[in-house]
Amino acid sequence: MTAKPDVDVAILGGGIAGLWLLARLKRAGYSALLIESEALGAGQTLASQGIIHGGLKYAIDLKLGQDSAMLADMPARWRACLNGSGEIDLRGAKLAAEHHLFWARRTLASRVAGFFGSKLVRGRVDALEQANWPEALRDPENVGAVYALDECVLDTSSLVATLAQLHAGCIKAGRAQVADRGNHVVLDVAGRSVTAGQLISTAGAGNEALLPQLGLPARAAQRRPLHQLLIEQAPVPLWAHCFDTSDKPRVTITTHRKQDGTLVWNVGGLLAENGVQQSEAELIAAARKEFAALLPKLDFSRSRFAGFRVDRAEGATADGHKPDGPVLQRKGRITLAWPTKLALAPQLADLVLADLPPPSGATQADWPDWAAPAIAPAPWETVSWK
Ligand SMILES: Cc1cc2nc3c(=O)[nH]c(=O)nc-3n(C[C@H](O)[C@H](O)[C@H](O)COP(=O)(O)OP(=O)(O)OC[C@H]3O[C@@H](n4cnc5c(N)ncnc54)[C@H](O)[C@@H]3O)c2cc1C
Repeated sequence: MTAKPDVDVAILGGGIAGLWLLARLKRAGYSALLIESEALGAGQTLASQGIIHGGLKYAIDLKLGQDSAMLADMPARWRACLNGSGEIDLRGAKLAAEHHLFWARRTLASRVAGFFGSKLVRGRVDALEQANWPEALRDPENVGAVYALDECVLDTSSLVATLAQLHAGCIKAGRAQVADRGNHVVLDVAGRSVTAGQLISTAGAGNEALLPQLGLPARAAQRRPLHQLLIEQAPVPLWAHCFDTSDKPRVTITTHRKQDGTLVWNVGGLLAENGVQQSEAELIAAARKEFAALLPKLDFSRSRFAGFRVDRAEGATADGHKPDGPVLQRKGRITLAWPTKLALAPQLADLVLADLPPPSGATQADWPDWAAPAIAPAPWETVSWK
């Protein structure tokens, strides 16, 4: 008879995917341990814009693909968690905005009105009366229509802190060497040897290091880089996409608060995708030009700017585009997992749990003298402003 492993499941990586999975595993009765090599949220999660997409961004080219269908359930699932009635108690996490907005430039308002009036998206967007437009968009010479999407925006720092607290005793710091021994996985980490029935690696870009061990080629994972723009002392808060003739937003703006209370815009969309080829100074110049064209009435005279580079780390698709949903690669007792979107962490956990043997019923192992990882700072706490 083989001895029971120390834990049913070990997880590598404390971004949204690992933290969410840990909470779901514990709730389902598994013994589980999460190991983080740097700091919780350090990869993409705290750099993200925190939008709980319902798929409308991807429906804008009038094709509701599989990915937008998968995302459609996510806002309701997350909202249930935020109000304490869902699969994980996220009442400690803060909502940054109840609704992400979508604005159309004046010249495009009628095309967009046709789409948002269509059956395809009815019930998932509301056209806002001009009186209800947020201050940043109150510029009818340039803004033609504003819609509220059924998509909330989360404060990712409080999300990570809340998830970290739920099962704090099961989250440990270190970088593990892992080996699949057939009857269990051995993790050598922080001077210990820990055995697990299964290993799920949700290490983002860190998953790539495990590909050879699973006999997978480097092309089984992909990165899609971004050069996000940050604006400190942004004039007013705003959470919105601006769409134009492309099927991707020209800019996607979310507002965050630094620890000292200062407002920061995190700007993605095409600006950040095109910015990959640009230096920080070129990105800032492009952003100034873009905001002068899109929202010329906003005053950025007190603002300071910065760029930060971050890769979206994903399971691969044949054409290098965004995968439709979470991606899992499994060999023996080791699974590499990528959620593809923060919003899809619940879906990723469903897929992992569906494939696991039942909990062993073993008592959760405890390592009181094994240190816990810190929570990472958000990028806007550490950049140097220009
Ligand atoms: C700029 C940007 C904006 C985004 N905005 C949104 C959005 O608005 N909405 C949305 O749904 N999605 C968004 N995304 C996508 C989303 O952020 C990611 O899909 C999601 O955060 C991935 O989570 P993860 O836990 O898989 O990986 P990560 O967040 O990258 O976490 C991986 C963790 O693993 C750790 N790690 C690495 N190697 C090891 C190792 N060997 N051992 C242990 N730990 C390790 C890292 O330190 C890190 O903490 C955005 C992404 C980016 C880059």
